[in-house]
Amino acid sequence: MTVGKVAQGASTGCPQPLYLRSQPHHTTMQVAITTASGNSNTGPIPTTVTERASCSTACPFYDTGCYGKYHLQGVHWRKVSNHERGVSWDEFISKVRKFAPNSLWRHNVTGDLPHLLGDINPRMVDALVRANKGRKGFTYTHHVLNDHNLKVIQDANANGFTVNVSTESVEVADQVMSEHNIPAVAVIPSTESRRFFHTESGRKVVVCPAKIHKGKVNCSTCGLCQQSDREFIIAFPAHGTAKKAVDAIVS
Ligand code: SF4
Repeated sequence: MTVGKVAQGASTGCPQPLYLRSQPHHTTMQVAITTASGNSNTGPIPTTVTERASCSTACPFYDTGCYGKYHLQGVHWRKVSNHERGVSWDEFISKVRKFAPNSLWRHNVTGDLPHLLGDINPRMVDALVRANKGRKGFTYTHHVLNDHNLKVIQDANANGFTVNVSTESVEVADQVMSEHNIPAVAVIPSTESRRFFHTESGRKVVVCPAKIHKGKVNCSTCGLCQQSDREFIIAFPAHGTAKKAVDAIVS
């Protein structure tokens, strides 16, 4: 699906760009917020989980290797996906508006941006971007980079809500950043032991410090993923229960 030039709806007085008005208003979507995460990787910042229906079926980890399926995270995510936990998207947006000014927060420890048949729902993301104004939200997406999704991702990044494109190789992440001017991250083999290295074209790759300095660095003290204008790729070595399956996909 291709989205045309963004134009304001002057004839109706509607302040929303035309591409937003051409999309369905809403998709039912359940989100759970943890206001001060106990997750050692994130540290005590607000984090969220969005139900599994938000995930792209094109994600290479959709069936195998998804970190969100296992252990306590898996139990929590299943309950959110079954709507036994969490709140509606609108309630979630209201809660984001109440986050403290300038607060760093991580959207989607598991889950992705709401979509309809693979096209990210621009109205719902626009509401999130607006709610995040004055705050430092960041997230990741595995949705396919078609013209429509690229537009939504670029708009979010340009308006203060950082959306990192998730990839399975630093070379693809490099290509995404160079071609589309949006931040990208990559899952890399668990055997990687360097703190940083460079892609073939010379772009710097920084391995997530929380994976290198376990227990000493976390998202609350790092925040690199929130920097949408960064020039470097962030890499995450495969880890956890699904490490072998992930290694098989990214190696
Ligand atoms: S690079 Fe920093 S912000 Fe990103 S996941 Fe790792 S610790 Fe969190």
